[in-house]
Amino acid sequence: MARTNAIVLGAGIVGTSVALHLVKRGMSVALIDRAGVGEQTSYGNAGIIEGNTVFPPAFPSDAGALARIALKRASEANYHLSFLPQIAPWLLAFRAASRPQRLIENARLIRPLFARAVAEHETLLAEAGGSHFLRKTGWLKVYRSERGFAALKLEFDMAAQLGLPLQSLDTAGARALEPSLNPVFAHAVFWPQAASVSNPLGVTRAYAARFSALGGVTLAGDARSLHRAGSRWRVETNEGGIDAPEVVVALGPWALDLLAPLGLKLPLMVKRGYHRHFRSDGNASLARPVLDAGVGYVITPMEQGIRMTTGVEFAPRDAAPSPVQFDRIMPKTRELFPLGERADDKTWLGSRPCFPDSRPVIGRAPGLAGLWLATGHAHWGLTLGPATGRMIAEMMAGETPFCDPAPYRAERFL
Ligand SMILES: Cc1cc2nc3c(=O)[nH]c(=O)nc-3n(C[C@H](O)[C@H](O)[C@H](O)COP(=O)(O)OP(=O)(O)OC[C@H]3O[C@@H](n4cnc5c(N)ncnc54)[C@H](O)[C@@H]3O)c2cc1C
Repeated sequence: MARTNAIVLGAGIVGTSVALHLVKRGMSVALIDRAGVGEQTSYGNAGIIEGNTVFPPAFPSDAGALARIALKRASEANYHLSFLPQIAPWLLAFRAASRPQRLIENARLIRPLFARAVAEHETLLAEAGGSHFLRKTGWLKVYRSERGFAALKLEFDMAAQLGLPLQSLDTAGARALEPSLNPVFAHAVFWPQAASVSNPLGVTRAYAARFSALGGVTLAGDARSLHRAGSRWRVETNEGGIDAPEVVVALGPWALDLLAPLGLKLPLMVKRGYHRHFRSDGNASLARPVLDAGVGYVITPMEQGIRMTTGVEFAPRDAAPSPVQFDRIMPKTRELFPLGERADDKTWLGSRPCFPDSRPVIGRAPGLAGLWLATGHAHWGLTLGPATGRMIAEMMAGETPFCDPAPYRAERFL
């Protein structure tokens, strides 16, 4: 049986970043996944490194939006009716965490981690030879209605308090940044400190290659084989059993498959989302991700074409895809940007792993000595992967973490 200092379960952007930060500290590390590196949730996201995040996506506060969602007319959200009884307690907790006072508290708590997001990627990308993926061109959000724009006041006030720069633009100002956008919106906000990547899978693979170059070992195996072996933990892999005193669970939306049988029942749900790739019509192009805020989708320039990602879908993680939101979104997207034909015939489905307060869980697993948790990164796992990796590796190595880990403890749910 092979022995290592640490095992990381899950090779998405979070687990791969954790593993890389551990080997950088001289530890021997095995990174284990049953699929290929970065091929699950971390493959299909919108590529935004959202160093600017003030408030996470919140439960709708206005009755109109709620009614549209309930009637399945909303483009930003969909749900499976049969799933509602199961998800109701989580939705109530999510709604409670979306009240203005809680959002303000949360913005202060998460800021130190998000503030490092772009810089931590920049460092790892430079070390991994992946800097060509990074675009430091910000994020543009467009608003079609006066009401949608007026609702930003709290976010603007909070951004000012946190020292986050933003530019409030009119249609012409936004089109100076993105000339291919049609003038179907009245307002826009440019967040200059956000960045994006042109290939999220390429980024995770680059970090995994760097991990291997530094002596890390990537293995195929099922994380659910994890069990105690004396004072150590053991996992079965295709290369045989491997054990270590410390294990990091970075299984994203699958974390509870492992944790629940170990007795750790955390309120982790999924917000599913889809993407499709399109070509641009003629010479149309984008230099950065664009959110059509009232409609609820993002278009991002990627190596594969223009990636259009949907808002959320509340449905069981493993239920068959139901990409009905595209039907509602497509006419609006074509109004805003001259999309051409589909660039491929695939519709990708992924599951954002979400806790009701929209904060990840990063730190020790309560009551399970040697087990660490790095999961629940919700809408911002690409953003926070490297910062999470650094923070957890610092804690495991006995260093002082670069920011206070208290807001991320699992104990907040127990
Ligand atoms: C439509 C959409 C758009 C998004 N846009 C953005 C964005 O622009 N910016 C951003 O920051 N975030 C975005 N996100 C969120 C982001 O993609 C996720 O938060 C992030 O990918 C989660 O990473 P992870 O490593 O935790 O999970 P994953 O990437 O899912 O990795 C978990 C890994 O665990 C493995 N695994 C699971 N079970 C087992 C098992 N039993 N044994 C072995 N291995 C197992 C899986 O194979 C997988 O590789 C978006 C998400 C979606 C769905």
